[in-house]
Amino acid sequence: MNHIAEQRFHKNLYYVLQSMRGRHVGPFVRRLQTWERFDRASFEHLTRRLLRDALSYARTQVPLYSSGAWQTSLSRADADELRHWPVLERKMLITHRAQLRARAFTPGVFARHSSGSTGEVVTVLYNPNAGGWSWAQEYRSMHWFGIPTGSRTLLLWGGGHPMLDWVRNCRVFSTKNLTFNQLERATRYLLQQRPVLVMGLPSAIAQLARHVRTHRPEAPAQLAPFVKLGGEQVYPFQRDEIAQHLGARVFESYGSTEMGPIAHECPAGSRHIMADHIYLEIFNGDEPAPVGEFGDLVVTSLFNRAMPLVRCRIGDRGRISPDPCPCGLPHPVLSELVGRAADMFVTADGKLVHGSELGRRLQLFLSLAPLGSVAQVLFQQKNAAHWNVLVESAAGFNEELAAQLRQIVHSTFGENCQVDIERVALVPREKSGKYRYYRRAPQSS
Ligand SMILES: [Zn+2]
Repeated sequence: MNHIAEQRFHKNLYYVLQSMRGRHVGPFVRRLQTWERFDRASFEHLTRRLLRDALSYARTQVPLYSSGAWQTSLSRADADELRHWPVLERKMLITHRAQLRARAFTPGVFARHSSGSTGEVVTVLYNPNAGGWSWAQEYRSMHWFGIPTGSRTLLLWGGGHPMLDWVRNCRVFSTKNLTFNQLERATRYLLQQRPVLVMGLPSAIAQLARHVRTHRPEAPAQLAPFVKLGGEQVYPFQRDEIAQHLGARVFESYGSTEMGPIAHECPAGSRHIMADHIYLEIFNGDEPAPVGEFGDLVVTSLFNRAMPLVRCRIGDRGRISPDPCPCGLPHPVLSELVGRAADMFVTADGKLVHGSELGRRLQLFLSLAPLGSVAQVLFQQKNAAHWNVLVESAAGFNEELAAQLRQIVHSTFGENCQVDIERVALVPREKSGKYRYYRRAPQSS
């Protein structure tokens, strides 16, 4: 079977199978492709209508929205207007889960769980239709790059769904235990099967890219035409490394357990907000921030009827650009995005620094370290003045590289910090298979 026949076979099979589960991905992709050709005014009109429908459903169906702060603000105002709704804090998804579930019974409701850095797992229920819309968003935006549904894909992710993954022509390599052997298996698939798309966690794909160039220096310069990154904070150094080592066009998507897809990069390089899937606002405390300002992402789901989330503060921060993208898509642009607002670390002299600062400094380090000398790095804070840095390293790792890692901590968190460098065979990932370059040290270590 040639590539096109293979892709069509998998696309058709996937769409049929999803429709049987009540998730009409194929028709939804076509609907989204019609909407994206709208001019900005018509598109905005459409999203306002979707929002009003979602709000009136949520108000009548969700017990929480008839109680407390919601009862107070919505009983004397038009509940179809989003501006009257209070903010729903993310922690309420845990504390008020039962009251957030819609009264109407929908068959086929399924759950998505977040990894939860704090240890608390957030569970969000989706009706099949909402699941269909979120998959359709994923596939529609890949069409922007000319990647049709069913294209051969290598996926590096925390877990998979063996049957469904085969149906959609996707080979999954779990990141839960990203050992040398697992990277070898993924490398062989990459070299022998030459997938159109490599997709998944940026930390894992960057690791694969380094692995391939270290152990297969003779491999062709271009190993995959496209790489799609998502699921973790993406750092520029990862994009650079992946583009360089895999010879690929790299783009990013952004989503969350609570909402599904939220934004996706276009070929012009802008991160477009999926305004035909969610309604995104930027908040400063309890008030919407002025246009173009940086603040908390507050998101409303347009299609979830099982657990309709309205104005949920999901924990990430960003800025909506006041200007449209030159590519012509009517979707607004999320010009800045910082993941996990809660990930602040205390410096030795008591200031707060966002952990992603370490990621930025690691960029320079990894780009200068000899290929193969460092596979992965994890900065763990034991307390304000004590860091433990785990390094998954090979023969090329030396005292000079160790000193550079110490310097990264010192320049970010203070010269007085104690920094231990610990070489390990495998830097542990989170239970979900995701990876962060920094975290609070577990109690046991
Ligand atoms: Zn664009």
